[in-house]
Amino acid sequence: MNLGILRLSSFLLICLFITNLNASIKDLDFDLIKKGDNSKDNTLLIVGGIQGDEPGGFMAASLIVTHYKIKKGSVWVIPNLNFYSIIKRNRGPFGDMNRKFAKISKNDPDYSKIERIKSYILKDNVKLVVNLHDGSGFFRKKTVNGIYASYRWGQSSIIDQKKIDVKKYGHLEEISSNVCKHVNENLIRKRDKYHIKNTHTKMGDKEMEKSLTYFAINHGKPAFGNEASKNLPLHERTYYHLLAIEKYMDTMGIKYERNFDLNPKTLKDVIDNDIYISFYNNKIKLPLGEIRNSIGYFPVKKDGKIDFTPSNPLMVIIKNTNSYSIHYGNRRLAKLFPDYFDMENELKIVHLKVDGIEKKVKIGTIVNVKNDFLVKKEKGIRVNIIGYVNNSHENESGLKVSKKQIIRRFSIDKSSNLYRVEFYKGNKFAGMIIVNFDNNNPIRDHNLSVTNNEKLSSTNI
Ligand SMILES: [Zn+2]
Repeated sequence: MNLGILRLSSFLLICLFITNLNASIKDLDFDLIKKGDNSKDNTLLIVGGIQGDEPGGFMAASLIVTHYKIKKGSVWVIPNLNFYSIIKRNRGPFGDMNRKFAKISKNDPDYSKIERIKSYILKDNVKLVVNLHDGSGFFRKKTVNGIYASYRWGQSSIIDQKKIDVKKYGHLEEISSNVCKHVNENLIRKRDKYHIKNTHTKMGDKEMEKSLTYFAINHGKPAFGNEASKNLPLHERTYYHLLAIEKYMDTMGIKYERNFDLNPKTLKDVIDNDIYISFYNNKIKLPLGEIRNSIGYFPVKKDGKIDFTPSNPLMVIIKNTNSYSIHYGNRRLAKLFPDYFDMENELKIVHLKVDGIEKKVKIGTIVNVKNDFLVKKEKGIRVNIIGYVNNSHENESGLKVSKKQIIRRFSIDKSSNLYRVEFYKGNKFAGMIIVNFDNNNPIRDHNLSVTNNEKLSSTNI
């Protein structure tokens, strides 16, 4: 039986895992997320993840989806073109996808994905294409040594030729040079300097002839490769990609707003910590920044189906024999070991006393606690504080609980600040809240559907 991976409305990726998951993660399809004003005939197409071992590129593309607002103009983002290779952390389990654009067999497992991405490149409104890569070393026009060399790709803006004869953005070299200039004004260190790399593909570069950008060029679409260096840590690669993307948006008159400061330190925090996943229509929301490698007794619907909404399109859940793994790009964040329940859908709000103050709390939220909290008794609802020391209580509502009354190893995070409070009605699981005792890091409540306010759509046609 084939696994059904359903991508439903907007940015909600709802995955129904049926059986035999290993066979099916290979079929993980990619997302096309449309941002901004789609009526404009001036769309930038950003492609990330053509090769799964180049995370700087796909991380940058995913952040355009999650942390940028397009205020004017149109941006289409594919953050996870070769999603299976991203999860496998492999350049291409079925061969290099970026060599399949000139010719591909119908029997190639990548066939339908290549056809689909080609169709987007060819859409009339798409006026400029950027394909994001992480390349080895540092490109230099003249070879200095094995790291700084003309045959390296890192830290370069790639063009296939000087120009193409189209109305808009045909001056490839000039645009590329402006991108390099913008990146070079914002270097972390001198040696990261960007250069234009012209592959002169038409002159007989047999390898580059098979690439995505050359396919675009051949169909009258200005296209560029952008390469960060594999010698840099992930957040620095992502930083350089974002600088380049912002310059392309600028070039096209696309106006944007991002909700963080673009500098390497802040970016690292965004990548590592501003990540969440919610389950079963927000009955549970887990902050993933510091999540433990394994979480036990995680409530899963009796039939084994997991419905989830990730905060980032590089996230997916893979079912293993007796657990579920949360993947985020190249990282496996955590394994969830399930405890199966029927689900109760009525409970939306619970009442707490947090540090002496009464609070109404929505199921599936994170509550910041300084000293103690108490869940108020409610008829028919049983409360289970996971790891609470005194387990003689059948129902842990009505008890004032401080951090030292919860056993540290039951936290969901590595620093033992985040704990689960679970709600049940009879034998049914009704929802969870997370209490956060880390006063230095109050977690702002992060509504995963916020990004839907924009015209976001994830297409899978
Ligand atoms: Zn690449």
